[in-house]
Amino acid sequence: MTAPDAVVVGSGPNGLAAAVTLARAGLAVEVFEGAPGAGGGCRTQELTLPGFRHDVCSAVHPLSAASPFFAGTDLAARGVTLLTPKVAFATPIDGGLAGAVAGSVEATAAGLGADAAAYRRLLGPLVRDAAAILPAILAPLRSVPGHPVAVARFGLQALLPASQLGRRFQTSQARALLAGVSAHSFLPLSAPGSGGFGLLLMIVAHSVGWPVVQGGSARITDALISELTSLGGQVTTGQWISSLAELPPAMATLLDVTPRQFVALAGDALPARSAGALARFRYGPGICKVDWALSGPVPWTAQACRQAGTLHLGGTFAEIARAEAEVTAGKHPERPFCIVAQPGVVDSSRAPAGQQTLWGYCHVPSGSTVDMTERIEAQIERFAPGFRDLILARATRSAAEVERHNPNYVGGDIAGGLGTLRQTVFRPDMRWNPYRTALKGVYLCSSSTSPGGGVHGMCGMWAAGAALADLLGVRVAR
Ligand SMILES: Cc1cc2nc3c(=O)[nH]c(=O)nc-3n(C[C@H](O)[C@H](O)[C@H](O)COP(=O)(O)OP(=O)(O)OC[C@H]3O[C@@H](n4cnc5c(N)ncnc54)[C@H](O)[C@@H]3O)c2cc1C
Repeated sequence: MTAPDAVVVGSGPNGLAAAVTLARAGLAVEVFEGAPGAGGGCRTQELTLPGFRHDVCSAVHPLSAASPFFAGTDLAARGVTLLTPKVAFATPIDGGLAGAVAGSVEATAAGLGADAAAYRRLLGPLVRDAAAILPAILAPLRSVPGHPVAVARFGLQALLPASQLGRRFQTSQARALLAGVSAHSFLPLSAPGSGGFGLLLMIVAHSVGWPVVQGGSARITDALISELTSLGGQVTTGQWISSLAELPPAMATLLDVTPRQFVALAGDALPARSAGALARFRYGPGICKVDWALSGPVPWTAQACRQAGTLHLGGTFAEIARAEAEVTAGKHPERPFCIVAQPGVVDSSRAPAGQQTLWGYCHVPSGSTVDMTERIEAQIERFAPGFRDLILARATRSAAEVERHNPNYVGGDIAGGLGTLRQTVFRPDMRWNPYRTALKGVYLCSSSTSPGGGVHGMCGMWAAGAALADLLGVRVAR
């Protein structure tokens, strides 16, 4: 490519979504990626043993399935098959019991005993309005939604702490179910908005499920690169950019990086006021991740867990809340909250016949160098006695190592910044358009912008939309 119209730094799902959106509009796009391979948080590798294909970062794709960007992308034609486990997620508690979200609100409620009616009352209206709520939440929250009443109804409940929402349930299973899914927020469960993360992920579970990608998340990256190159775009890997001055001249520069990296890339070119606002951006806790090669499926005691794509491990609401509060206080919990994914329930291609891959992480304080393998395995063993006997090999990354592999995961924060109420609405700062920066023609497109973390490509799509509006007066449809 001689002279690109637009350059993108970083080839995570948002960088590639931005690149594809720009290329669809007819621009010549060049992507620069520092890592040896493309994909950022969407890659698959043999991390343990030959034949065991592990998702290095993202593994479970409810937000891809719900994303308007991916709805407008023919992923299937480019080799992506989403496989949806019967049970979206389950949270076991001691005694062989579990709360589980499986299929419709009605079917899930039926498994929650005394909380069936409370579950129907909470989730029923929200899931009915999912087609209005999801596109509004996956957009910059500063814009007026298309269906304000439905979105306001969701918003009023989403503002609540998970601890307050949890009072609507009386059984330990239903309360643990809510705690586990709300803990994706990385917030203490007493924090305003923590319940909103849980509600959103439950709405998505009932609407499109929590799928995994057949063969691994890297297929999404491959599909986006395939479309980009078919439109004349180009991806150069192994080239870290340390200053905007290193980039070829272009009409638009889109940066799939977090505010801290942007300030460093821009250097003196960025006005002090803007640099100061971005320096106040808050990052969240980190994660310690473990991938296992197993000789067989995990022997969960609770039946629902055996069919679940994702498990939330920590025990009761109170136990999960305590673990998350400890992390916020800078401690490493003895019994950490863990998220575990077992793609093998629907995808036999991840491991040799009869064997399995398992993916999991726990939350830890930012920048932690502590290896939590033992504590994560103890939590799995607690709900699946005999698990340890299945381990053939494992690979662990501390929070510090997670950042070393991808500078976007500051201190091991995989969400691109803390999801406080303020940073959910004003992400990354108070500017009306979250993607434009103080530098003309330079845009942020990472998960540090609205709508935040996850593989949905929407930050990239909206950032490219801002660039196209500035360059060509083109509006990207919601
Ligand atoms: C362990 C883990 C588990 C996760 N699980 C899930 C999950 O199950 N489901 C889900 O939806 N999400 C999950 N996520 C989150 C998801 O991966 C991220 O939210 C998503 O990848 C963010 O996309 P992005 O494009 O904004 O950034 P990234 O995917 O982080 O991509 C940024 C890219 O920019 C590159 N880069 C940065 N700086 C430079 C530079 N100066 N020069 C050149 N290149 C640069 C990086 O190398 C990287 O490739 C997980 C993340 C991790 C780490």
